[in-house]
Amino acid sequence: MNADLEELTAFRRDLHTHPEVSGEEYATATRVLDRLRPLRPDGLLEELGGTGILATFGSDGTGPQVLLRCELDALPIREVNTFGHRSIYDGVSHKCGHDGHMAMLTGVAMKLAADRPRNGRVHLLYQPAEENGAGARSVLDDPRMSERHFDLVLALHNLPGYPLGSVVVREGAFTASVNSMVIVLEGKTSHAAEPEHGLNPAAAVAELLQGALALDNNVPEDPAMRVVTPVHVDLGSIDYGISAGRAEVHLTLRCWHDQELEQLEQETEDLARKLARDHGLDVRVRRTHTFKANQNDPAAAGLVRETAQATGHQLVERDHPFKWGEDFGLFTARYTGCMFGLGSGERQPALHNPDYDFPDALIPHGVELLHTAARRFLDA
Ligand SMILES: [Zn+2]
Ligand SMILES: [Zn+2]
Repeated sequence: MNADLEELTAFRRDLHTHPEVSGEEYATATRVLDRLRPLRPDGLLEELGGTGILATFGSDGTGPQVLLRCELDALPIREVNTFGHRSIYDGVSHKCGHDGHMAMLTGVAMKLAADRPRNGRVHLLYQPAEENGAGARSVLDDPRMSERHFDLVLALHNLPGYPLGSVVVREGAFTASVNSMVIVLEGKTSHAAEPEHGLNPAAAVAELLQGALALDNNVPEDPAMRVVTPVHVDLGSIDYGISAGRAEVHLTLRCWHDQELEQLEQETEDLARKLARDHGLDVRVRRTHTFKANQNDPAAAGLVRETAQATGHQLVERDHPFKWGEDFGLFTARYTGCMFGLGSGERQPALHNPDYDFPDALIPHGVELLHTAARRFLDA
């Protein structure tokens, strides 16, 4: 193993040992900066949209501008692994491989520092808070970002279940459009012996769950796919003398396109309002955790395909998008771009599983693919 790869592997494991959840990636950002500063990037923005970092290589502001993105955040999941680089924080761990994505982007930084682009620039974005859908928005809203233009934006995500190093690509939607919905039903508490003197929302909750699940069409092969997932229900309190007076139902809704999702949201909200009326309850509906569908530009997807072939990586064409949400969709909504998958091994635990760990063997593949794609775009 060469020295750079050894360094990147050690960096990845150090990040894995010290994970931080969305929006709190302060020490992670410091660790990244400690690696980037000695490379003397031509531009370095810190605290972008919170803890974000943008490192720029190349000083030609008039040529093509490429942005490569990785994520800083870990998840509120307890790690069950016992290896040496396991998380030292109880209940927080890197279960999406963002530690590996950061190591790969830092590998690209090392290559760019050794051979700086003369035509155009490459911008490396370490984005906060991907998992809760807030980070892309906050980075793009930062005035230092909104004054910039990017001709191409690229991001990759490691994909358990695919052969290690295979490149998974698709034109059009790559990930689903996702929204979470919180429905609060307010009735009136009463003595548990006399529910008739209050207004218990239990029946409305039961009907709401059944009605929402009836809107579901969890068939990924179907362009009209809709996934309705109840994630949390809260009714009353654990007090045996009290009939519940309040309930919350939390759902995630997902479709392949933003417009279809708006339709599903409207149907779900209409259902909640109708049930509240029928049962004489007050209702509040709130949306949270929004992810726009990633729309892969055909030319950008073409560049990813050519890059995979030129670097000897197996290409896998996806016939339908992935059902998860990815806030990189905000970037592809604004700029020409592509998100693609990088297989991390067929026997890898799934993303967000408690025993997941990013495979270090994937680091050189990600470095080579991202670096080559950016160079090909600049030199085209
Ligand atoms: Zn994730
Ligand atoms: Zn992720």
